[in-house]
Amino acid sequence: MATIASNLQAVRAAMAGAAVLAGRATDEVSLLAVSKTFPAAFVRTAFQAGQRRFAESYLQEALEKMAALQDLAIEWHFIGPVQSNKTRPIAENFCWVHSVDRLKIAERLSVQRPVNLPPLQCCLQVNISGEVSKSGVSPDEVSQLAHEIARLPNLQLRGLMAVPAPADDPLVQRTDFAMLRALYDQLKNEGLPLDTLSMGMSHDFAAAIAEGATMVRIGSAIFGERDYD
Ligand SMILES: *Cc1c(COP(=O)(O)O)cnc(C)c1O
Repeated sequence: MATIASNLQAVRAAMAGAAVLAGRATDEVSLLAVSKTFPAAFVRTAFQAGQRRFAESYLQEALEKMAALQDLAIEWHFIGPVQSNKTRPIAENFCWVHSVDRLKIAERLSVQRPVNLPPLQCCLQVNISGEVSKSGVSPDEVSQLAHEIARLPNLQLRGLMAVPAPADDPLVQRTDFAMLRALYDQLKNEGLPLDTLSMGMSHDFAAAIAEGATMVRIGSAIFGERDYD
């Protein structure tokens, strides 16, 4: 458990280093701790070390963790595939959804967002690596979908998210992130008030920060290797 606190410290230091190297202010990049597959006790330890934003990919697992951690003021983000029969509990329990990639899903989330809560904060997930991933809208459909989602009353479209194909070469990593950044800049030029570029994971967050990430989603570098069994 002591390692979670020191891992967090190391990740925050590395994020700050990457920001400075890119000529950016260190507070421009927010850390989202990805706690999927890890127990609630790990989340509690990270919270005690100052972390407030956590992300989950599987709804049932997330709901169980939320119940166990009700006493903590955690900001929960959903980053997994959104199935249309799961939109209601997602709209009711999360602050953010990073993985919106269809209008039908966005419409359901908007209708089902409880009126006593602030709008659901959303990112549009983009499939920047083509065939490799089945999730995400293709780059040529981003603009139309973003404008449609921006009109929904109970969602607030904040920006774009992507999970590029894994690459070891930092130059390849940066090329993928630069593509997402270019789409993001295009949408802002089209008048959408976006402020979030959700990109970068444990193995590539430095490249993502170099290309303009405002939120990095980091799991294993904080909590250790995941065991899916
Ligand atoms: C699991 C996951 C992460 C975190 O991955 P790590 O390599 O553990 O940092 C980030 N984003 C998404 C969408 C994920 O599913």
